[in-house]
Amino acid sequence: VSSGPGSGDHGDAALRAVELLAPIAQLDVPLAPHTTYRVGGSAAVFARPRTLDDLHRIADAVRGTGLSPLVVGRGSNLLVADAGFHGIAITLADLDCAGTISVEHADDVGLGGAVALPVAARRTVAAGLTGFEWAVGVPGSIGGAVRMNAGGHGSDIATSLRRVELFDLHTGHHGDVAAGSLGLRFRGSELADHQVVVTARLGLAVGDRERSEAELDEIVRWRRSNQPGGQNAGSVFVNPVPGEVAAGQLVDAAGLRGFRLGSAHVSEKHANFIQADDSGSADDVRALIEFVRERVAETSGYVLRSEVRLVGFGDPEPVVPGVEIGNRR
Ligand SMILES: Cc1cc2nc3c(=O)[nH]c(=O)nc-3n(C[C@H](O)[C@H](O)[C@H](O)COP(=O)(O)OP(=O)(O)OC[C@H]3O[C@@H](n4cnc5c(N)ncnc54)[C@H](O)[C@@H]3O)c2cc1C
Repeated sequence: VSSGPGSGDHGDAALRAVELLAPIAQLDVPLAPHTTYRVGGSAAVFARPRTLDDLHRIADAVRGTGLSPLVVGRGSNLLVADAGFHGIAITLADLDCAGTISVEHADDVGLGGAVALPVAARRTVAAGLTGFEWAVGVPGSIGGAVRMNAGGHGSDIATSLRRVELFDLHTGHHGDVAAGSLGLRFRGSELADHQVVVTARLGLAVGDRERSEAELDEIVRWRRSNQPGGQNAGSVFVNPVPGEVAAGQLVDAAGLRGFRLGSAHVSEKHANFIQADDSGSADDVRALIEFVRERVAETSGYVLRSEVRLVGFGDPEPVVPGVEIGNRR
């Protein structure tokens, strides 16, 4: 008896979802190519909405099948289990409004949810604006950055975010929400899995283009010399005491730099990065995350929290009600 995403109750629900969503959804689509870890299993359903109406159809399919939705941005903070994700994965890559960049003036920069952060950083600098340079080193999307409150180099998206256009896949509500209502905190927010960031509006400042370009170069140089390339999702653990105790130092002190478990290993270059082998296993990465967490707790007393979004491992999911959205429709 097979127990993959395409079988049993989930299989029936997935089949119904794909029927409801033809032609924008497919059954059993590998998610590895949609993540920077490049390992892990398939989504039972993978949907590529092109219009807001398609998002309404996905909301109907979510309600009609009971399958969970998961927005996949650039997959740079996701680890999908080898068993896959038994729900509806959604990419905004084909959604027109999610790919746009509009610079009205410094105080009102519109960015689609699917826009890559480095692209947004370079475009805003090219327009003579300052305040988003930090994003050049983070390989995520605007939507993923809002959900995670991504940041670096002394800033984060909360610093310049004014408001977002959200679409709720449970209620079908679609509307603008002020940044202050998103519960943005260090590397997190109150957004739930069923809430899609369609676009975001930032308030930046008029800057000195040459100085900002030099800052972009410096950030890229710093990243290249301090962080590994290859298959990872950036820092695995949140620093337990920001600015004072770094997770990487604790991993290092536990003697785990370079430590290997199956097809996953702790980076030699940065001990808070866990690398996957080419054709490796997401379950090995997960097992190594747990091993490191336990070893660090034993040696230092700190219980590290994973910054990476773990999908499909069967962990109890915290109930996140999400944020209130007024309705545009
Ligand atoms: C080499 C490397 C370096 C990194 N450095 C940093 C760093 O310095 N600072 C930092 O904060 N992060 C860093 N990261 C992690 C990652 O890039 C960020 O968390 C990023 O914001 C994730 O965006 P994403 O589009 O890849 O999201 P994904 O990984 O695709 O998804 C992450 C979460 O966001 C949700 N999501 C994605 N798109 C949307 C959307 N449109 N609407 C609603 N929810 C959405 C997903 O459902 C998921 O819950 C790094 C990652 C790598 C690989």
